Amino acid sequence: MAVLEGDVLRALEGNLHDGPAAGRRLAQLADVRLLAPCQPGKIIAVGRNYAAHAAEHDAEVPAEPLIFLKPPSAVIGPGDQIILPRQSERVEHEAELAVVIGRRGRRIPRESSLEHVLGCTCGNDVTARDLQRSDGQWTRAKGFDTFCPLGPWIETDLDPQGLAVTGSVNGLVRQRGNSRQMVFDVATLVSYISSVMTLEAGDVILTGTPAGVGPLAAGDVVTVEVEGIGVLSNPVAAE
Ligand code: ZN
Repeated sequence: MAVLEGDVLRALEGNLHDGPAAGRRLAQLADVRLLAPCQPGKIIAVGRNYAAHAAEHDAEVPAEPLIFLKPPSAVIGPGDQIILPRQSERVEHEAELAVVIGRRGRRIPRESSLEHVLGCTCGNDVTARDLQRSDGQWTRAKGFDTFCPLGPWIETDLDPQGLAVTGSVNGLVRQRGNSRQMVFDVATLVSYISSVMTLEAGDVILTGTPAGVGPLAAGDVVTVEVEGIGVLSNPVAAE
């Protein structure tokens, strides 16, 4: 593991989740291929957490956070291919702010919940929209291999609210939102989810997507950009 300072990668010394330090110089960013920045034990995603996105699916904003799981086997890193599964006719991107848990907790009070967050990265909650509708529940539609791009790195010094979240396909912007538009903010989500299940270091919360989701086709390149973090870019290929 490494710490990114400017465009120089330095060895991460000490415990990632407890005051790590930057050590010796390893490489220039341009000379390495980045992997997904964490290997979550679980990924908890939040549905309809932006009112404008709920509206584009004729859905109401929920009274409590609407949570679902994506499997860790769906995770890919920057530059990895999103594979369109043969079972679906319509796979869509969902640009999202992804929150990485740094410290284990259960029934975390909202006031101290950000102390359990290591940092934030970009996430793409790739979804087979047709299967999501026909199945009635979302495990298959959200769970295919490659349906959870994460990266390019974890920004540890960032207020998660007030960040522009942008989703683009082939350089054209389709989604443009801001994390301040979340129905339930990050502190509330961490507290709420931990009232259901223990959050472990490395777990990821996908915090919902702004309006403008749309289909992906083989040959596309989809990017998720979150202000203050960076750009996550993935090519799309047929199975
Ligand atoms: Zn989503």
